[in-house]
Amino acid sequence: MTSFRALLVSRDEATKAQSVALTELTETDLMEGDVTVAVEWSTVNYKDGLAVTGKSPVVRRFPLVPGIDFAGTVVASAAAGFAPGDKVLLNGWGVGETHFGGYAGLARVKADWLLHRPEGLDARSAMAIGTAGYTAMLSVLAIEAAGVTPASGPVVVTGAAGGVGSTAIALLSKRGFTVAAVTGRPEEADYLKGLGAAEIIARAELSGPAKPLARERWAAAIDSVGSTTLANVLSQIRYGGAVAACGLAGGMDLPASVAPFILRGVSLLGIDSVMAPKAKRLAAYARLTEDLDRRQLDGITREIDLAKVPEAAEAILAGRLRGRTVVKVG
Ligand code: NDP
Repeated sequence: MTSFRALLVSRDEATKAQSVALTELTETDLMEGDVTVAVEWSTVNYKDGLAVTGKSPVVRRFPLVPGIDFAGTVVASAAAGFAPGDKVLLNGWGVGETHFGGYAGLARVKADWLLHRPEGLDARSAMAIGTAGYTAMLSVLAIEAAGVTPASGPVVVTGAAGGVGSTAIALLSKRGFTVAAVTGRPEEADYLKGLGAAEIIARAELSGPAKPLARERWAAAIDSVGSTTLANVLSQIRYGGAVAACGLAGGMDLPASVAPFILRGVSLLGIDSVMAPKAKRLAAYARLTEDLDRRQLDGITREIDLAKVPEAAEAILAGRLRGRTVVKVG
């Protein structure tokens, strides 16, 4: 039986210490599923950083192949909707957490978790979008569904130079929104303006304790940071505005007041990409293929080999990665 490269996270049950190694697996090592996919590309998302380093208990079964998303080609299928040769992608569903994920040459998964790749979306581009880009799109769709339009006023994006933030800026500016980018990396100002940000705001301006209400500045926000940053953002949302909360790069807490909700009618919209139903995913990918400029996407994407994932995992948690990082697997 042919073997394939895989990154494997293991745990020493005595010390509970987690370790990661590049290894060789065979098909018999894979978990249950009705479709087997030759993985071509995966990516490094924030959650992958947590899984690979063990800094948060993302991995809930050992040993495990991490990687919460992948794109590739079906090699075997017992499911009606998929046949060998089909071009597919996967985001979430616990893959890379409780089920072997994308950091391996082969993945065996449930057919329900897979999407056919939209026409014209190659595997590398699908992963340049990755879970971060798909989450950014879900966030944009959520604020639009809440009634926010470019005419409503400016939209603020936090964690701007990260994967979700960078893609959110590009998507919003493509639709004509005026975007303000909040970053802790002033050296990335030109990069963020290149994506379409009209204004750069220093992270420190929004990271202190929040007042219940502050000057009304933004029609909406896409927040991948959480904690005091989200609290400050909420306090600055204009009457009737909306905030899509999708991340916790700054912390999982939310030291905020209810004042924006009950005095300004602000909506806090929760965004989850992992268990999102198929219809939502299809809507997000339809808009992503329509709105995301491929050259711009290429410009925010860098490529690494599977062997470099542990290093990139440390870097994403330290806030040192810019934009998107795709992983060459196959
Ligand atoms: P990245 O690391 O690429 O981006 C996060 C960005 O947040 C950083 O680039 C940095 O931006 C900023 N940041 C980092 N640390 C801090 C801090 N301590 N305080 C304030 N800002 C900080 O990660 P992703 O874009 O991949 O993911 C962002 C978040 O979204 C993560 O928490 C992730 O778990 C979450 N997420 C949630 C999903 C869902 O389904 N809800 C799906 C995908 C991601 P800058 O340098 O510009 O300040």
